[in-house]
Amino acid sequence: MVRPRANLKMIATVPNNLLSKHTFIPTLQRTISYLKKKGVEYADIRLEECISEGVMARDGEVDKLWDNLDTGFGIRVLYKGSWGFAASSLLTETEARKIADEAILQAKAIAGIQGSRGQGVKGIIDKNPAVKIKYKAPCQIDPFTIPIEERLSPTLKATALHKNSKQSKKIHTIEGFLDFQKAHKIFLNTEGSFIEQEIFTSGAGIKAIAIDGDDVQIRSFPDSHQGIFRQGGYEQIIEMEILKNTPRIIEEALTLLKADECPSGEKNVVLGGSQVALQIHESIGHAVELDRAMGMEISLAGGTFLTPDKLGKQICSKIVNIYADPTIEGGAGSYLYDDEGIKARRVDIIKNGRFVDFLTSRETAKTLGKKPAPAGSKQGSNGSVRANGWNNIPIIRMSNINIEAAEKGSLDELIADTKDGILLQTNKSWSIDTSRLNFQFGMEIGWEIKKGKIIRPLKNPVYSGITPDFWKTCNAICGKEEWQMYGLNSCGKGDPVQSISVGHGAAPARFAKVRVGAVKC
Ligand SMILES: [Zn+2]
Repeated sequence: MVRPRANLKMIATVPNNLLSKHTFIPTLQRTISYLKKKGVEYADIRLEECISEGVMARDGEVDKLWDNLDTGFGIRVLYKGSWGFAASSLLTETEARKIADEAILQAKAIAGIQGSRGQGVKGIIDKNPAVKIKYKAPCQIDPFTIPIEERLSPTLKATALHKNSKQSKKIHTIEGFLDFQKAHKIFLNTEGSFIEQEIFTSGAGIKAIAIDGDDVQIRSFPDSHQGIFRQGGYEQIIEMEILKNTPRIIEEALTLLKADECPSGEKNVVLGGSQVALQIHESIGHAVELDRAMGMEISLAGGTFLTPDKLGKQICSKIVNIYADPTIEGGAGSYLYDDEGIKARRVDIIKNGRFVDFLTSRETAKTLGKKPAPAGSKQGSNGSVRANGWNNIPIIRMSNINIEAAEKGSLDELIADTKDGILLQTNKSWSIDTSRLNFQFGMEIGWEIKKGKIIRPLKNPVYSGITPDFWKTCNAICGKEEWQMYGLNSCGKGDPVQSISVGHGAAPARFAKVRVGAVKC
């Protein structure tokens, strides 16, 4: 079947006029006053505009294009101890009033079911000081200002590299994508806060798919199955050097066709940086979301083994330090203030292997018994709440969940220090249970290590484990020279599901006695 090809002329660059909705702000300020008069204990409004644009390329041609301009506002109220939320894309005074009433009505209905949970800012959340601030995240090259042909050129060239070459018979396809987003958020609440944030996110990835009979092998660049997303503009894509790195992944995909299967058994495993990032994401990041721990997220694979009674317990080896930090420049999950108006800050999650904190919201932090948060203190919510767009209620999300690198130590040095093991690079599949305990990851490529040297590539590797048992075997983490920010734009959580960008700073790390094997996936 001949696949219909998109035409470059189909896409129109979205006008770069984000601030036109500023005329709606006085209406929202009046709506805040209206909500106060109606007797809400607390309310916030998020007015958001998001421009996004992306392309999928295949074998040197544009395969799929998408662009979107999405504007609207959401009102969240706390009334009689219960939350209500309503949203609309119609920016008028009448609609704002209607949505405010709907949010209150919803809270009343929920209060009727839940019964009294205490009254608002005293019972459910603590008062937070008012903030007035404008923030623009760093962005050197606004991707929407670059002509579409110029923006796409490296990806189109990279996905055409196998054409007319001797390798073309076994390289079935090379595909790549580019994705850009500009989000402009304005937050107001009944405590007097007015927070305006503008954030660009850019992402790209490419993969070579080699086929020989029923053997299918994939290699991806950058070192991540779903590309890498970072905050910033087109400079992030330039720095990736996609065209320069594509010949290597073509070569490795072809090498895998001839490689031996990964052996089965217990092995020392060195995980590449992007897999350490995903391991953190699935087994630590999601597990420390306090709404899961409190049973508020159970419907969408939303449990966790890390209940509050586990605080202080050793769940990783002593060399493991993992922290949340939304303040890192370029992190896909960075922000200055979260979607509850709480200032972003670094929070230790795992300290010397011990579980020391959850990701919290204003409500869950209070329920956990944390004290009120005076300005500048490190109590109360740690600012981990976000919503995907104006039409979703904010929930606890990972920001950038990172592992601390060792002072120094390259991947080559770690390999040289490994007598017998396997280096596993680039995730291909993942599976983890609802408690975030039992996991299995499939990887694109393995490299067998003997006496400190890589001796051969291995195909179809998988490894599995149980979260704390696995992390307790971590016996080496590479140094700062290997640490980098990875990021994805598709972390799903909530019901209805909300997909959001999350960052992970990670470096390669070694684990002992890991169950490995080979599975075609
Ligand atoms: Zn996720």
